[in-house]
Amino acid sequence: MNSTGRPTAPTSVSAAAIETISGSRGLLQHEDLLFEIGTPETTGVDLPKPKGLKSRLGGVARKVDTGLAGLSEPQAVRHYMRLSQKNYAIDLGLFPLGSCTMKHNPRLNEKMARLPGFGDIHPLQPQATVQGALQLIDELATWLKTLTNMPSVAMSPKAGAHGELCGLLAIRQALIARGEGDVRKRMLVPESAHGTNPATAAQCGFTVDEIKANKRGRVDMADLKAKLEKSEDVAGIMLTNPNTCGLFETDIREIADLIHKAGGYFYCDGANFNAIVGRVRPGDLGVDAMHINLHKTFSTPHGGGGPGSGPTVFSDALAPYVPVPFVTKDDDGIYRLVEQVDGEASESFGRMVAFHGQMGMFVRALAYILSHGADGLKQAAEDAVLNANYIQARLKHVMSPAFDGYCMHEALFSDAFTADGIETIDIAKALIDEGYHPMTMYFPLVVHGAMLIEPTETESKAELDRFCDALESIARRAAQGDDTLKGAPYLAPMRRLDETRAARKPVLKWTAEDTSKVAAE
Ligand SMILES: *Cc1c(COP(=O)(O)O)cnc(C)c1O
Repeated sequence: MNSTGRPTAPTSVSAAAIETISGSRGLLQHEDLLFEIGTPETTGVDLPKPKGLKSRLGGVARKVDTGLAGLSEPQAVRHYMRLSQKNYAIDLGLFPLGSCTMKHNPRLNEKMARLPGFGDIHPLQPQATVQGALQLIDELATWLKTLTNMPSVAMSPKAGAHGELCGLLAIRQALIARGEGDVRKRMLVPESAHGTNPATAAQCGFTVDEIKANKRGRVDMADLKAKLEKSEDVAGIMLTNPNTCGLFETDIREIADLIHKAGGYFYCDGANFNAIVGRVRPGDLGVDAMHINLHKTFSTPHGGGGPGSGPTVFSDALAPYVPVPFVTKDDDGIYRLVEQVDGEASESFGRMVAFHGQMGMFVRALAYILSHGADGLKQAAEDAVLNANYIQARLKHVMSPAFDGYCMHEALFSDAFTADGIETIDIAKALIDEGYHPMTMYFPLVVHGAMLIEPTETESKAELDRFCDALESIARRAAQGDDTLKGAPYLAPMRRLDETRAARKPVLKWTAEDTSKVAAE
């Protein structure tokens, strides 16, 4: 009892120790699977039972229950609302996931994408009725070609990795046209590359030859030159710039010259274009093909597997091989889709998608580009780099920057500062308790215990400071060997999960028998 006569709440219970009866934690609501809360008898629709109606199903009426969960309307609304609250989003807080460029998505884009003239059209409509949409694709294509100084662009690829596939299929087609399709089979890929690069090369029938990184986190030029000594079988190189260490490849012009001299093509992974828009044009660097992740550079919400859009720009050398369909404008001002591999597209390697690409994302990207203007796009790139360097500068005294000097759009740290027994994953999990989605961990592979932090360019200094304060305090605990970090997160609805098992043996289908067992693990 205190002086007011009310009982005093105990102040020493650790949050981790509190088990609630409901399963909810504070205002974070517990939610079971649909199948666990629904019953076949319940429905959200209120229809009168038909009276005296004979079945007209001709003897094929369902004999067993579908087993689908039925919910009342409020149950359904709450289910999805509760799930949505378990989702971390850029609209909720700073999203430091490196390599992914989580951009703020201006609401204006959404308004534009929902205009009936864009939102309600169908890809099979006669072209005469969708001239505005074709014009929009053409206008966006012009922006992308201008920003990259590349003469051609394929708009249809539906993600970054799909753009890589587009680029390498064009390279393969060009090699076939040169009569070297069977000879030039070796694709050089730096060891710091995003996993999609070697996967794409292998998918297109190339063998992957790994190039080492040097101490500065860039391509080791001596290793590259050694790999090019025997060059008859070299198809090209796949280089990311800025690379996955968050660094600009300073030797990129020389790399382009070397690969061209060897008879190969230069594929640039442009997923990190956000850091250099308006500052550097990849066409000036000798690039032959590069995908642009619209969802990482020109907004659009992404994550959770979609949506993505990966238009791929091409040099003159590869332009004849771009996939159909593409938009052209005839002399009379009419936009036209070239859909067949003949006539003006006779050298095209073919088609990658059923229709024309991610139309909704084209609208969002163009809205973003037009509302920023050329100067605004450049400013966004500069702010992305500034924010990352601010984080690096604020944390470099307590964490270990992986490389010396300024970074581009993401700051990379190794785990060198942690005490024995404390690992990158412990730091990442402790960030969850602070209300942040963790940074990218253990990637790129060339840095031990890597922590790759990419703040969005729209974050304010106050928000960056709040994040840095939280991470700095965790880093100090990690350096001191505070092993309470090993138990984090303490405040999340779920603690540490067996992520390897979840990835290797995902339980994708609900069955009444095993949910309680799986849920308990
Ligand atoms: C994101 C990313 C990709 C793949 O892009 P998706 O749109 O996810 O397919 C490829 N390379 C790099 C460097 C990336 O960051």
